Amino acid sequence: MGFDILIIGSGVVGSALAIKTSQLGYKVAIVDSKETFPNSFRHLSVNQKSKAFFNSLNVWKKIENSAFPYEQIKVWDQEGTGFIDFNAQEANLPNLGYIIREGEIQKNLIGEFQKNNIESFWGEPLIKIDHSSGAIVCKTSKQTLQAKMIIGCDGMNSKVRELAEINFRSWSYNQTAIVTNFKTEINDNCIKQTFTSIGPLALLPIKEDESTMIWSIDDDVSYKFISMSENEFTAEVKNKFSEQIGKLEMLSKRQHFPLHHLSAKTFANNGIFLVGDSAHHIHPLAGLGLNAGIGDVECLAELIKLNGLEKMKEITSSYNRKRIPINLGLAASMEAFKRGFSQKNIWVKLFRNTAFNIANKVSPLKKKFMELATEL
Ligand SMILES: Cc1cc2nc3c(=O)[nH]c(=O)nc-3n(C[C@H](O)[C@H](O)[C@H](O)COP(=O)(O)OP(=O)(O)OC[C@H]3O[C@@H](n4cnc5c(N)ncnc54)[C@H](O)[C@@H]3O)c2cc1C
Repeated sequence: MGFDILIIGSGVVGSALAIKTSQLGYKVAIVDSKETFPNSFRHLSVNQKSKAFFNSLNVWKKIENSAFPYEQIKVWDQEGTGFIDFNAQEANLPNLGYIIREGEIQKNLIGEFQKNNIESFWGEPLIKIDHSSGAIVCKTSKQTLQAKMIIGCDGMNSKVRELAEINFRSWSYNQTAIVTNFKTEINDNCIKQTFTSIGPLALLPIKEDESTMIWSIDDDVSYKFISMSENEFTAEVKNKFSEQIGKLEMLSKRQHFPLHHLSAKTFANNGIFLVGDSAHHIHPLAGLGLNAGIGDVECLAELIKLNGLEKMKEITSSYNRKRIPINLGLAASMEAFKRGFSQKNIWVKLFRNTAFNIANKVSPLKKKFMELATEL
């Protein structure tokens, strides 16, 4: 079977790209190793730019039904006086973004496939790529598919990246993210993130009386927190937020994810493209990984629209030139944040508290932070 564009991976990134490119008039197919539609229970923050992109696909209205808007972000250091906050009013926006269950975004995107004539193949892991004969031929576990352009949206352990022999840098952040949901007494439409001595802890509102929690904990103590009783764990979280949240009741089992950095050395080569987590994966402390992936989707779709698939070299070089520096810059910011806050040195602590407080007062610096959070 032959297509213009073949997308491997139907996560949010791959599904959004499939819709966008099919709306440009291309014959698009998407392949996923999962037997059925993905339905992730993890909640993600979606910034204004990603929202605008979903809107351009005509899916935002549906996603919005399950999206919870947040108007403020407060960040502070447990071990000092450093404090910074951002709010929608300062940015002249109705809100800063939304917290949405990943499965809801996936369901609404995949629900648009038929209408957009996107062929989808489930339960078919990609096994082989051959581009010795001009067109690119992909073998899945069940069939052979051919396309002019192959796009790997197959996540951090990308098979496309491996088969295309694209090198990458990767290292462990030496932290594990523990994720769960809580019923909360106080909800003020605010994301609260505090840097504890063992790693950043964030509470993100998902309903009037519920929040999702993500605590990235140093690996030497993470197991202790994973194996604690629900009551013990809840008490630890409550203790870090003092009186800011009122009563807490755990609503879901704790899930945990080892945290790694990954950055592919090139994002495109020989008609094969990497988009989203297959190209770059960062620490979740700023909730920007998916938003950066949507930034890739927007950029690649725009380049395809401008050049057509015939000018593959132009698309390749422009995509690499535009997206590699942005994502490397983002990864460097996450690394600096993470390292800065894991420092036990008293002078570094003093410096970061002062820097935090200055940044909170000096508006150009705050504006820069805001741009990072809303415009990728
Ligand atoms: C704890 C945690 C919290 C996070 N919070 C946020 C947040 O608040 N905001 C934010 O923007 N980002 C956040 N992120 C990052 C975000 O989750 C990812 O960046 C995003 O989900 C990546 O999407 P993707 O579509 O690129 O990859 P994935 O969601 O990993 O999708 C990959 C798809 O490819 C398929 N696949 C894999 N291999 C094959 C194969 N061989 N053949 C066919 N199909 C294959 C898989 O089945 C899957 O469906 C968080 C990450 C973590 C770990």
